[in-house]
Amino acid sequence: MAPVTIAPSPITPTVDFDRDGVQHGFLRLPYSRDDSAWGSVMIPITVVRNGSGPTALLTGANHGDEYEGAVALFDLSQTLTADRVAGRVIIVPAMNYPAFQAGTRTSPIDKGNLNRSFPGRPDGTVTQKIADYFTRELLPLADLVMDIHSGGRTLDFVPFAAAHILPDKDQEARCFAAVAAFAAPYSMRMLEIDAVGMYDTAAEELGKTFVTTELGGGGTGRAETIAIAKRGVRNVLRHAGILTDAPPADDQPAEAGRWLDMPSADCFRFAEDSGLIEACVDLGQPVRKGDLLARIHPIGRTGLAPSEYRAALDGILAARHFPGLVKAGDCIAVVGTVEN
Ligand SMILES: [Zn+2]
Repeated sequence: MAPVTIAPSPITPTVDFDRDGVQHGFLRLPYSRDDSAWGSVMIPITVVRNGSGPTALLTGANHGDEYEGAVALFDLSQTLTADRVAGRVIIVPAMNYPAFQAGTRTSPIDKGNLNRSFPGRPDGTVTQKIADYFTRELLPLADLVMDIHSGGRTLDFVPFAAAHILPDKDQEARCFAAVAAFAAPYSMRMLEIDAVGMYDTAAEELGKTFVTTELGGGGTGRAETIAIAKRGVRNVLRHAGILTDAPPADDQPAEAGRWLDMPSADCFRFAEDSGLIEACVDLGQPVRKGDLLARIHPIGRTGLAPSEYRAALDGILAARHFPGLVKAGDCIAVVGTVEN
């Protein structure tokens, strides 16, 4: 049998990952189309390197309508200087750049959800090519990987940093230590409902220290959650020994956030009806098993009773559906249990 050969990535970086100093450039991905025959997608990237040391890979806008990570990382790209770094920081503020430009979760080019496209393909769609480049070129460079998410247009979260339960307990401990260092108001032991194809999974399978977040949502960034993202990135870089300057006073972690857990699929409530959602609990409020989380009113006519959605366990409301109208199948609420 002939050996399987994997094509090289079509993406060309305009930065040199081994050069000291600060470089701003692009990951150039050829994309031939009607308005640009030999055109490219130009994904902005910054590399800050100072000698040998660990490498952090920082990403935002893996989903194009999530803004805290993009704001924090575009800001970091223009403020971080090499003399404050020991090792290397690779910054990609808008990972799914076509989706980010369109303000949508998925790419307008191929409808690709980047965070369901890993490990990707060098000969696939634009979104699959981005995933492949991260899997085969950028992740292997990294010791620490941080991917900053928020809820996007359709979800809203209490602000938390998170990692996953992993089979390798040493790796898991490294990940949760980095989550604690982020010092968001909440720290989450996260359960994924759909882990196949996620960037998280690709990074974790390579043994990386991986931290993710959910820092708000609703398709915008708020002053409070953007400040949490900026401070959290610096906190984790200092924790890893990559950022070496003394933290300013407002960077001192106030306290490691309250720890939340998602022990089972009972955390999630999914709509079985379409209609108008009536929130009965706000984000961060405590709930007991059986408490009413939301009601969904039919909107086709008046005089009909709403359906009711109740908590299946004790905890706090950690996430909720953001738009006022819901469809059957939408995730309408997530309850996180509180660790003592
Ligand atoms: Zn996301």
